[in-house]
Amino acid sequence: AMTLSPLVEALKPSATLAAAAKARELKNKGVKVLDFTLGEPDFNTPEHIQAAAIEAMKAGKTHYTPSGGIAELKEAVCRAYKRDYNLDYAPNQVLISNGAKHSIHNVLATLCGPGDEVIIPTPYWVSYGALVELTGAVPVLVETTEASGFVMTAEQFEAAITPRTKLLLLNNPSNPTGAAYTPAQLEALAKVAVARNIPVLSDEIYEKLIYPGSEFRSFASFSPEIKALTIIVSGVSKAYAMTGWRIGWTIGPAAIIKAMDNLQSQETSNPCSISQYAAVTALDGPQESVEAMRVVFERRREYSLSRLRPWQERFGVTCPPPGGAFYMFFNISSMLNKPLAGGKVAKDASEFCTILLEEAHVALVTGDAFGAPGFVRLSFATDDETLKQGFDAIEKFLASAE
Ligand code: PLP
Repeated sequence: AMTLSPLVEALKPSATLAAAAKARELKNKGVKVLDFTLGEPDFNTPEHIQAAAIEAMKAGKTHYTPSGGIAELKEAVCRAYKRDYNLDYAPNQVLISNGAKHSIHNVLATLCGPGDEVIIPTPYWVSYGALVELTGAVPVLVETTEASGFVMTAEQFEAAITPRTKLLLLNNPSNPTGAAYTPAQLEALAKVAVARNIPVLSDEIYEKLIYPGSEFRSFASFSPEIKALTIIVSGVSKAYAMTGWRIGWTIGPAAIIKAMDNLQSQETSNPCSISQYAAVTALDGPQESVEAMRVVFERRREYSLSRLRPWQERFGVTCPPPGGAFYMFFNISSMLNKPLAGGKVAKDASEFCTILLEEAHVALVTGDAFGAPGFVRLSFATDDETLKQGFDAIEKFLASAE
């Protein structure tokens, strides 16, 4: 009989994609939905990167490539990390995969198995827990709070380590909270990792989206010892508005990269050849578009904060300012267990999001999906007009509960 594997049977669908699907369902009924569920830049991929893809296609770069990616792209990744972070890596320390999500899966599948523990600070990106569980390992969730700016301290990290700890999975800047660790906070974590010999998977996909008052440092950059323990995952999706091209990378010890390449060669073969050539141009070409997009996100972040600020006094809704990425993660627990618009009552953030969608036609993602009950996530990677209409609609919705 066709029975499912227990590991797959236990999988939940990605909650962010599920929230987007719910919004789409309503849109298909002809309702105008203000959708803030998506975690991707609303910009098109910059022209010069598109042109590089067309050129690659015309030049016949339409065949299989080496399973772990073309040498040109691995070299371009090495050049970029030298240029941007003064980090020295060799091409045999780089693996190209089908997006950073695939990179994370490959790292976990290569390193983890039953009996292992992976430390994950919460709130955490939805896929982390699922991808860890797929390997048979166990996620060990370390709770961070709004008051601490959603940052895990070195003490918390140390306290979570057991003889079974295989890995720390760190996301900086963070999806969903936008938390950006300070260099001092990172260095304190790095010291614990070195002292206790714990490898760190550092998901740095939002590295280029940093706002005033915050500073990005790659986790590998604090000492040769931490560099040897760090596996960096990043990619072109967020910085270059290339989510659909599916190019991510892993940088780390050559032996691990080689094992991951073996896995990938059996699993998917190479990532898309054309996308790889486009990614070479993204990394080697002019970087102005990265900053131009960041500036737009910075403006939307300012706007979002200006709309959220009065809600603290008015509704008890609070939001720590995000240091990076493009999400506002706000605390709506003051709105639970009391009549909202339409007389409906939400007992948790998931129900709050459902009622908000039904009554105000605004789609947010529930914090429950990220291990953060009482919170909701709004992506400000949307055009200015939609953002304004969205805040107007949420404000009206909140006010109707007063
Ligand atoms: N890591 C985090 C924290 C993300 O938010 C995302 C995308 O939403 C990814 C990784 C995956 O990026 P990619 O589209 O390159 O697979």
